[in-house]
Amino acid sequence: MALVNENFLKLPGSYLFAEIARKVSAYKSAHPAHRVISLGIGDVTQPLAPAVIKALQDATLEMASEKTMRGYAPDQGYPFLLEAIVRNDFEAHGVRISPDELFVSDGAKSDTGNIGDILSADNVVSVTDPVYPVYVDTSVMAGRAGILADGRWTNIEYLPCTAANGFVPPLPQQRVDVVYLCYPNNPTGTTLTRRELKRWVDYALKNDVLLLFDAAYEAFITEKDIPHSIYEIDGAKRVAIEFRSFSKTAGFTGLRCGYTVVPKELTASALNGERVLLNDLWRRRQSTKFNGTAYIVQRAAEAVYSPEGRKQVRQTIDGYMENAKIIKNGLEKAGMTTYGGVNAPYIWLKTPDGMTSWEYFDHLLNGLEIVTTPGAGFGASGEGYVRLTAFGNRKDTEEAIERMKK
Ligand code: PLP
Repeated sequence: MALVNENFLKLPGSYLFAEIARKVSAYKSAHPAHRVISLGIGDVTQPLAPAVIKALQDATLEMASEKTMRGYAPDQGYPFLLEAIVRNDFEAHGVRISPDELFVSDGAKSDTGNIGDILSADNVVSVTDPVYPVYVDTSVMAGRAGILADGRWTNIEYLPCTAANGFVPPLPQQRVDVVYLCYPNNPTGTTLTRRELKRWVDYALKNDVLLLFDAAYEAFITEKDIPHSIYEIDGAKRVAIEFRSFSKTAGFTGLRCGYTVVPKELTASALNGERVLLNDLWRRRQSTKFNGTAYIVQRAAEAVYSPEGRKQVRQTIDGYMENAKIIKNGLEKAGMTTYGGVNAPYIWLKTPDGMTSWEYFDHLLNGLEIVTTPGAGFGASGEGYVRLTAFGNRKDTEEAIERMKK
């Protein structure tokens, strides 16, 4: 008899997006002629850059000939992409990363979700609240979360990020082993300055804590003092793994490519006290369970770093950030309180008149025909907020804000 992984049975259904879809679909069925605008989606809407399309086409043609076709990709990624990443994402920010510290993958969701494979189930995990749900749900699956009581997992330490602390997570109060940090943040759209991130790295160095740093939105940073990589902070290579994604940076949500940085200096402890290189463990894990990102997709990712690719991708990101400005400025002018939206494509909107997240969600859907994401769905500290995204097209974004201003 096969027994299931009981940890999966502890997970509640993925209520948030299912409930949003249900409510939107009910509204649309009742009002088929009305135009409902979504500021709720966390997916891109603009097409891939022409340089990326060209690279995809060229690579596809290579696959059509016996001489140039490619089979399995190298475990950690093709050298052409690893070198482009090293040069553009790290050297350009004064950070030295070597290609064998990089692991190309099919995206940051897989990597942030799978990284727990190389860590003991006994580790105590800490997350910010609100939080990208993958960190919590995969901790539950691994048996690291305890039980769910009053909406919180008993073995997870939550770090509330609220307007009162400027959405800067407080350091954990108890002994923890692993902390997930996501900056720029989904869902709040806020960031950590260099000084704030250094406080985290210093804490991790002092307390032998592993930081899992999700930088999926790094490309949206506009301000100078915000680090693009945690490795811009001295000592971070000894305590942090960083996750990157081409999804939002270059519109790869449907193409799938990302990478993870596991520095050679980074170790964690075995039960006998011996220090173990996490780079070795992650290589072992990936070479056993993952068979590489498609050649044509890696060529497409390489093209993101070409001179034309960079220009085109930047234009698209600037367009999204212009949407963010339209949303943020429009709502602030209308007397509402917003956070984020300056270094991230998300705006964290305080609900008016003390409404709950879901009450305000319903109000916006039924009154203004605008879809948002209720903040409470990302954790208890998200109550009283909704998340708006800048990934829509300009016309829809402008119209939604005009409706809200009125
Ligand atoms: N990390 C964060 C914080 C995200 O918001 C998302 C997607 O929304 C991901 C990771 C997933 O990225 P990918 O598409 O590379 O799997």
